[in-house]
Amino acid sequence: MRIDIITVLPEILESPLSHSIIKRAQTKGLVDIHLHHLREYTTDKHRTVDDYAFGPDAGMVMKIEPIFKVIRKLKSERDYDEVIYTSPDGQRLTQQVANGLSIKGNIIILCGHYKGIDHRVREHLITREISIGDYVLSGGELAAAIIVDSVVRLVPGVLSNETSALTDSFQDNLLAPPVYTRPAEFNGWKVPEVLTSGNFKAIEKWQMEQALERTKRLRPELLEGLEEDG
Ligand code: SAH
Repeated sequence: MRIDIITVLPEILESPLSHSIIKRAQTKGLVDIHLHHLREYTTDKHRTVDDYAFGPDAGMVMKIEPIFKVIRKLKSERDYDEVIYTSPDGQRLTQQVANGLSIKGNIIILCGHYKGIDHRVREHLITREISIGDYVLSGGELAAAIIVDSVVRLVPGVLSNETSALTDSFQDNLLAPPVYTRPAEFNGWKVPEVLTSGNFKAIEKWQMEQALERTKRLRPELLEGLEEDG
């Protein structure tokens, strides 16, 4: 999978993309991530990426020309399955949306800033808009990092069997059961006995019961299938 991220602040993305599972996915050659600095696609000497919004409201809007240029260049090099814009009014990022994106070949993610981007970009160049939640960030970079993290760990081969994404929360509309590690007793606080019993059938049953109980108590709407599919 190849992910191209268009940004005016590549520095924000460098760290999250170069550690842990995302780093390993790239080292293993399973995911190829490229950052594109939008200012490199400007023509004026101030490398301007924003301008005043039309209308009476104060504020800046990201200009169409540099965005058009970088997307045109990328599209001339390969086909893209999605050109995503991070936006608070986009489709909410869920595990289902991440699952769907993880089987794509090439995607572009455009990070907005200021009051947003010239709407013509959204009308003509963007194929999908994704929000990471009902709150407003100052820029799309952190949203892009979250989208990439949730998607990359689902790309086949990125996680080992032991850490399989299949047992994660939301994967089957259930929250994950509690997990513990050694020591089995600390400060008088004990790990549930079944987990140290060696009886894998009993452990599996306990985990399923816990997952169901936690989901019913904490996120009952998941069981009612109210979450939107991606
Ligand atoms: N005026 C816009 C918000 C602009 S915030 C509005 O009210 O909709 C600046 C940029 O941050 C946006 O262009 C978007 O790319 C990013 N952003 C802000 N909140 C986000 C969210 N919840 N999810 C994804 N991206 C977000």
